Amino acid sequence: MSLTRWNRIVLKVGSNLIAPNGNGCSSHYLLSIAQFIVKCRMQGVQVILVSSGSVAAGRKLFKQIENPSIAIKKAMAAAGQSEMMATWDRLFDFPTAQILLTHGDLRARERYKSVKQTIYSLLDNDILPVINENDTVTTDNLKVGDNDNLAAMIATAADADTLIICSDIKGLYDKNPNLHPDACLIPEVSEISDYIYSIAGGATSSVGTGGMKTKIEAAEKAVSHGINTFIVDGFSEQTFIQLLAGGNPGTLFHAHKQPMQEHQHWLTHTASAQGEIIVEKNDTTCVNNQIEELTCEEVLEVNGEFSAGDMILVKADDGNHIAKVKSNFSSCLLHYFAEQDKTQLQSESQNMAGPIVSNNNFALL
Ligand code: GLU
Repeated sequence: MSLTRWNRIVLKVGSNLIAPNGNGCSSHYLLSIAQFIVKCRMQGVQVILVSSGSVAAGRKLFKQIENPSIAIKKAMAAAGQSEMMATWDRLFDFPTAQILLTHGDLRARERYKSVKQTIYSLLDNDILPVINENDTVTTDNLKVGDNDNLAAMIATAADADTLIICSDIKGLYDKNPNLHPDACLIPEVSEISDYIYSIAGGATSSVGTGGMKTKIEAAEKAVSHGINTFIVDGFSEQTFIQLLAGGNPGTLFHAHKQPMQEHQHWLTHTASAQGEIIVEKNDTTCVNNQIEELTCEEVLEVNGEFSAGDMILVKADDGNHIAKVKSNFSSCLLHYFAEQDKTQLQSESQNMAGPIVSNNNFALL
């Protein structure tokens, strides 16, 4: 896809680019990125920037910077957001706007819609949205955890056609290029298979540094919504020259030809399960209509605490994941049903409780 065919892109820039020494921001590597953003906008391409760097920017203001606690890191993020924004601001002669988000804002449907609306309003007014995770207020169960996945969620919410993730190496290699001089760059990926994950490695033992695994996860989220995704070397000026010329400087993950619809995509990739129920394995449970017919009487086990209206995972008793659904019942009520004698329940309360999921509020897994 050449630049002339882009309408809206999301560009993800990590802390190592904005704060290369991990201690305060620098515009050193941002100049070519900023120029790329300016040129895209001049050609009518809408740009959304997902930028990290608040923790690294805030770090220098603290006394204890070796192995900071989570609480200190949150404070560093709070202290560093304004420097991170100011660093970008200096590079543009158009306005920017900061949006700080947690996963809690994206997995609640109403808040997700509101985020979407805000992004659209900013773009309509030629303001550059700069998005980051709001580390200061996150908790383990509320955070996205990395800006690669956050960028993919934003690309989906904003209906972008392209996601560009800046890395510190050229793209995805077939083996770790730091250890194997014969490692080859994979220029295109049309299917994100287990093999692709296996060569990406873990979050820290990835090909190169910078967490290739989360970049692959992000690409998987984005391509399933019809968004072409590039992993490129953000440190190289050439990357942006090639992108502007319609080339592929790194690895391009091709968008699915038949992307998931927005609501299905949100259910699968953004909404996270607050708990799970185990039901008897039954091959037909995996068929759409059967999930909508699942009733409380069929629940064998309930794990976690959730309220009616929360998303939960439906698992078979052999451990297989069947679906993610919006539960009509709380964990408390489902516990009650799980503990009852099933045969008696079926005769006594059939149709009393009703289905666990309704109105298409599920995604098969
Ligand atoms: N939100 C973090 C920060 O601003 C960065 C998270 C990430 O890069 O994945 O420093």
